[in-house]
Amino acid sequence: MAPRFVYAPAPESRAVVNLRPSYGLFIDGEFVEPIDGGQFKTENPSSQEVLAEVSSAGLADVDRAVRAARRAHEEVWGPMPGRERSKYIFRVARILQERSRELAVLESLDNGKPIKESRDVDVPLAAAHFFYYAGWADKLAYAGLGPGPKPLGVAGQVIPWNFPLLMAAWKLAPALATGNTCVLKPAETTPLSALLLAEILQQADLPAGVVNIITGAGDTGAALVAHPGLDKVTFTGSTEVGKQIQRRLAGTGRRLTLELGGKAANIVFEDAPLSQAVEGIVNGIFFNQGQVCCAGSRLLVQEPIAESVVEALKRRLETLRLGDPLDKNTDIGAINSSTQLDKIRALAASGEAEGAQRWSPSCTLPERGYWFPPTLFTGVVPAQRIAREEIFGPVLSVLTFRTPDEAVEKANNTTYGLSAGIWTEKGSRILHMAARLRAGVVWANTFNRFDPSSPFGGYRESGFGREGGRHGLEAYLEGSLDG
Ligand code: NAP
Ligand code: MG
Repeated sequence: MAPRFVYAPAPESRAVVNLRPSYGLFIDGEFVEPIDGGQFKTENPSSQEVLAEVSSAGLADVDRAVRAARRAHEEVWGPMPGRERSKYIFRVARILQERSRELAVLESLDNGKPIKESRDVDVPLAAAHFFYYAGWADKLAYAGLGPGPKPLGVAGQVIPWNFPLLMAAWKLAPALATGNTCVLKPAETTPLSALLLAEILQQADLPAGVVNIITGAGDTGAALVAHPGLDKVTFTGSTEVGKQIQRRLAGTGRRLTLELGGKAANIVFEDAPLSQAVEGIVNGIFFNQGQVCCAGSRLLVQEPIAESVVEALKRRLETLRLGDPLDKNTDIGAINSSTQLDKIRALAASGEAEGAQRWSPSCTLPERGYWFPPTLFTGVVPAQRIAREEIFGPVLSVLTFRTPDEAVEKANNTTYGLSAGIWTEKGSRILHMAARLRAGVVWANTFNRFDPSSPFGGYRESGFGREGGRHGLEAYLEGSLDG
């Protein structure tokens, strides 16, 4: 048994965050009251405390935001030289860094994720995306899209709740660098960091209308993506909603990028460095409570080492600390909403009902809020729901394989194709496997690594189009990459 350390509480202070009691919509550079929308509340999922009232944009509000973006594109942002746009984007990146502590605390409050993740991953990566694309704004002629690539115009962007600020950065930074203007809709349960980002855009003197942020539920998202005034729609979220949007846009000529769900295989060969692999498996599925589209939710482990990997995993999971997201020692925070918690519970129950063996470490769940313990299923077979459906929670399904070919077959036996992981000492095996796995991103001897210069996106039901890197520019420019 590994020694269990007792940690003193180390809560991050909430005092750095100035929550307003209520927020308007951010349209044409100002916070405004909705014309035909309403209000809704956003809560802290770790305590169910209401954090603020937020506005919901109705049809007239969506229209107003799209018009503001169109005007800003025609009059200001489209004609502006890339080197000038670059300065604004760079300024946003700098302010994100300066206000990083405030953003991290706010993100953990609204989303439930551990502060060490919002502080060390979400916020720094969001700033890195703005820095990276600020560098591209005056170099678009060298991006491989022809000598003078043109922006598309106005982009409608809808994002999910799992990485609220980071997803906003993934959408806004490349769109702005390429001369497009934006209307962004954050998820209903996590609107606050996007609204703080709106304040940061004001602080950076970004011209009015270049970015508009309209909060609301799925109806607002549906009204936005259907608006005829858009040239481009980008959506990150569930495969189900992605399909609806694709049907809606068929025949309109509007460009579309979809970043959808996943059911990634994390493949561990018998020659893998065991303790490193165990850390990678834990990071792969328990990072952000498993609410990650590219989570390594199916562990494929080679038969001879299956037992020792599962034992090592159980020992490691016993040391994870679940609780207050604002405590700097917390590894596992709250599930984002009661809806998501119900979904995780139902899928975990189906695993047991279909014959897999369920295990969780001995941890106490707080009384209030939405919590689910880290969970491991062994004896999983490919036909079970927990091996096929995206759980989007801290639940790992363990399957075994004998040969590399069997690993490839099982890994590709999914309707998704977003990411995969390979753990082995042999470089040749990494290349052999990576060439055969149908996944947009393949990590070798690591997992869940992100960098703004590296493209991210899926195949099949995980969507199409890429975000990040030079490829991420293509989604917002006329023409296509030449290689
Ligand atoms: P979701 O229900 O599809 O919601 C995503 C966003 O779309 C939210 O802002 C949502 O608003 C909005 N929305 C809902 N219905 C809509 C409609 N009919 N038309 C337009 N917009 C609509 O997904 P979710 O459950 O929040 O997020 C989890 C899913 O996202 C998972 O499947 C995950 O794999 C995927 N995801 C993918 C990536 C990636 O990069 N590939 C990254 C993160 C998450 P409300 O919040 O108000 O419902
Ligand atoms: Mg919330």
